[in-house]
Amino acid sequence: MKTLAQIAAELQGYEPQALPAHTVNAFLAQMVPLPREAEDVPLMQALGRVLAAPVISPIDVPAHDNSAMDGYAFCGQALQPDQPLALKLVGTALAGEAYRGAVAPGQCIRIMTGAVMPAGLDTVVPQEMAVVDGTQITIPPGAVRNGDNRRARGEDLQQGTVALAKGSVLAPASLGLLASLGLPQVRVWRRLRVAYFSTGDEILSLGEPVREGAVFDSNRYTVWGMLQRMGVECVDLGVVPDEPAQLEAAFRLAAARADAIITSGGVSVGEADHTKAMMRKIAQSDTPGEGGVVFWRIAMRPGRPMAVGRVGRIPLFGLPGNPVAVMVTFLAFVRPALWQMMGANPDDPAVAPPLLKARSTVAVRKKAGRTEYQRAIVSVDAAGQLGVQTTGDQGSGVLRSMVRANGLLVLHHEQGNVAPGDLVDVMVFAGVL
Ligand code: AMP
Ligand code: MG
Repeated sequence: MKTLAQIAAELQGYEPQALPAHTVNAFLAQMVPLPREAEDVPLMQALGRVLAAPVISPIDVPAHDNSAMDGYAFCGQALQPDQPLALKLVGTALAGEAYRGAVAPGQCIRIMTGAVMPAGLDTVVPQEMAVVDGTQITIPPGAVRNGDNRRARGEDLQQGTVALAKGSVLAPASLGLLASLGLPQVRVWRRLRVAYFSTGDEILSLGEPVREGAVFDSNRYTVWGMLQRMGVECVDLGVVPDEPAQLEAAFRLAAARADAIITSGGVSVGEADHTKAMMRKIAQSDTPGEGGVVFWRIAMRPGRPMAVGRVGRIPLFGLPGNPVAVMVTFLAFVRPALWQMMGANPDDPAVAPPLLKARSTVAVRKKAGRTEYQRAIVSVDAAGQLGVQTTGDQGSGVLRSMVRANGLLVLHHEQGNVAPGDLVDVMVFAGVL
């Protein structure tokens, strides 16, 4: 595998051109470390956690052949085409209580959903299809076929096979599955710890007195929210002014307390953009020869400038300052990198929500040669088709349009203008934001 320094050197060759977004992701995938520590946790603490080892089923599921319906169980071989089948009722099998008696040819038993099929019986006629006269049960011709309404032992899962793959992100359904196997706890990767802070002399923490030219810190709240959605342990380091010594202290504190660092602001080319210089200084003094910081102009909108590096072994993501750019670069780059650090499978539904195709109801101007993420409202039209419109003002500071949006219109690197009626890719926020 290439060293960080080699990749960084190659990427610097792109300057001053902006990098395509997918190149940045390929770099990040190489740069971030994989998870190392695992722990066993009870199921009710495992929601959203990532499996550190495959779960092998200790049992067959279902554990016995059982009935899928409330009805009458019998031996299906006796069924004749075009003729009713008359059976004598000899007993009842309830769920959770096996029927112990013998069932001879020409006999049947009443059976409830989930009850174990007695030996020799393989077919269930639903009670509403049977004609009942005392203990005389008649099955009309064609009502069922041999083997109907029986769930076979091991049909869902066989003992010794993989029930859940390593790297699965545990969803409610996975917890249910684990419980159905009788497993009270599960081995997951330790929760990832991420430290973050905002930078800027003009940035106010909530509760501070308002002053001219200052803005309240919104990035810490969006970043916190997006990290929470991923089940990350958050270390909030507040607002750090554009002052080199304070920035350095913040970086060192963050690296000591977390597995990854996220900052916002200070990575463009302004007078007070010290974050870059400080990242470079720390990375070089702490990991000499690693060349551990790369700055990019990424061919995307919003979110052109971004810095990435390491403090020791700790990856750091220097996001732009503009609130919408923070969210979009987080979604595009930080989120996939963090999921990798968390040990998740790249194709897990929690990691990679599918891009859906929707018909654009509006014209969208788009230059080929960069990726654009436009805030969008995705809806279903009268014909049941997905449609998408943008939320209007796409300024990268306009958080309100992010609030109105329920997804992003993703316009790929090579794509040009969109005409009304064109099919486009959309990422719906459900489960992500
Ligand atoms: P910068 O990249 O530091 O020049 O910031 C770009 C723009 O984003 C400036 O208008 C900043 O005031 C704004 N900004 C930076 N950080 C934040 C923040 N944490 N919350 C809200 N706005 C911010
Ligand atoms: Mg700034």
